[in-house]
Amino acid sequence: MHKNYIGEINGLVGQKVELKGWVQSRRDHGQLIFIDLRDSTGIVQIVTTSDSCKSAYETAQEARNETVISVTGTVRNRSEKYINPKLATGKIEVAAEEIRITSSAKEVPFPIDTDGHEIDEFIRLKYRYLDLRRPRLIHNLRIRHQVIQFIRNYLTAKGFLEVETPILSKATPEGARDFLVPSRLQPGSFYALPQSPQQYKQLLMVAGLEKYFQIARCFRDEDPRSDRAYGEFTQLDLEMSFVTQEDILSLTESLFTKIVEEVLGKKVFQKPFPRFSYDEAIKKYGADKFDLRKKKDPDVMALAWVLDFPLFEKTETREISSTHHPFTAPKDEDLPLLDSEPMKARSWQHDLICNGLEVGGGSIRITNADIQQKIFEILGHTPEEIHQKFGHLLEAFKYGVPPHGGIAPGIDRFLMAALNEPNLREVMAFPMTSGGRTAVMDAPSIVSKEQLDELGIKTKTIE
Ligand code: ASP
Repeated sequence: MHKNYIGEINGLVGQKVELKGWVQSRRDHGQLIFIDLRDSTGIVQIVTTSDSCKSAYETAQEARNETVISVTGTVRNRSEKYINPKLATGKIEVAAEEIRITSSAKEVPFPIDTDGHEIDEFIRLKYRYLDLRRPRLIHNLRIRHQVIQFIRNYLTAKGFLEVETPILSKATPEGARDFLVPSRLQPGSFYALPQSPQQYKQLLMVAGLEKYFQIARCFRDEDPRSDRAYGEFTQLDLEMSFVTQEDILSLTESLFTKIVEEVLGKKVFQKPFPRFSYDEAIKKYGADKFDLRKKKDPDVMALAWVLDFPLFEKTETREISSTHHPFTAPKDEDLPLLDSEPMKARSWQHDLICNGLEVGGGSIRITNADIQQKIFEILGHTPEEIHQKFGHLLEAFKYGVPPHGGIAPGIDRFLMAALNEPNLREVMAFPMTSGGRTAVMDAPSIVSKEQLDELGIKTKTIE
C-alpha cells in the first residue's frame, strides 16, 4: 500500500501524493471545505471545492472528526496571507482529487486537541488509545523512544551488554510489597514479580559479564503518588565490576549530560553535578531530594548527587530497615559499627536527583558472604529465612565474586522531569489509574473457578 507521510511532503510542491490518516478537524465554508488531516508524522491542510472535484467534496462533507480517510491530491503552496507559522506544513496544502473513507468514527468521548489535563483520569485511561492521539502524548512517547535509543547506543559503545532477566522470579526486597503469581505446576507456591533485577544483575557480575544494562520493568505494590507509578515502571538498570563509586558516578553523569544536551536540547544546571552528603542535604534542604533551580526554568535540568547515606533507617513499621536495599555495602571504615551501633554506619549508596525528584539510586555492593549474612541478621531475618530467601546469592559469592556496583535511574521519573509533566502517567503509554486499574483493559479482574481450581486457590472476601 502506498502512503506519503505528512512529515515528508513539504518538499513535494507540484507533485501528486496519497495521504492516509485521521480527520483532526473540518471547516465547512459552503463551497469550500478544509480538512486538517493527521498522521503519525504531522498535520496538513486538505482543500476541496464543490466545483473542482465533486465526489471528493461530497465525501469531505460526511467525514466526521477522527474518521480514517485516504486523500489523493496535489501539494501546492499556500498564498502568502494563508501561511500558518504554527504548523510544520503551514506553507503548503493539498488540493484533493479523491477522498475515500476507510473507517468512520463515532463521536469521541473527550476533546483530543487540548492538552488533556482537564479531563478525568479514569476516562482518559479507559480510552487511552484516543487519549494517545493527543500531539503532546505522541511527542512524549517519541522523546521517550529517543532517550532509550540513545542510552542503548551509548552503553553499547562502551562495551555494555543488554541482558533480559526473568519476570517470574523470587522476591527481591526493595522496600515495597511484591506482586505474586501463583504456580500451576507447584500448587501453593508463588513467583514474585521483580521489584528490580537487583539480584540477577549481581549474579551476572559473578558470571563475569563485567558491564550489564537493561531497560528493565520493575513491579512494586506500593501506594501511588504523582512521582510514583502504581504497579510497574521502567528503569535503566546497570551494573559494573571492578569499579569504584566514582566510576559509576562519572559514567552516569556523562550519559545524562549527553541526554539532556543532545537529545533534549536543554541545559544542565551545573557541571560537574554538585554533590551533597546526606547530612548536608538534610541540613540545607530538609530532604534528600531538592530542586537547585532558583526560578523553575523548564529548559534547565538541575542534576545532583546525594552520597554518604546512613546504611539503616527507622521506618513507620520497622525499627531497622535498609535505607536503600540490603545489598548495599557499608563504608569500609564503618564496618566495626555493624556490631556496636549499626544505625550510625554509613553506606556506599548514591542517589541521583533532578529538579526536585529522586531519579535514581545505586551503590557499591556487598560481595563478602559473611558481611551480607550479618546485614540480613541485623535486619531481623532468622538463619532459616536467610538461607531460604538469599541462600543462592551467598552461595554464588563463594565462587569468585568481583567487586561490583551500579545504579538504576528511573526512565519514567527522568522523563517526567525532562518533559515538565506533572505526572508519570503522561510519559507512559498505558499507565494504571491511581486506584491500580490498568488502562483500557480494566484489570485486575475476576477469573473463572476452573482457573482458580487448577491453581489450588480459594478466594475469600476481605472486609
Ligand atoms: N535495584 C536498585 C533500585 O531499584 C538500584 C540499584 O541499586 O542499582 O533502586
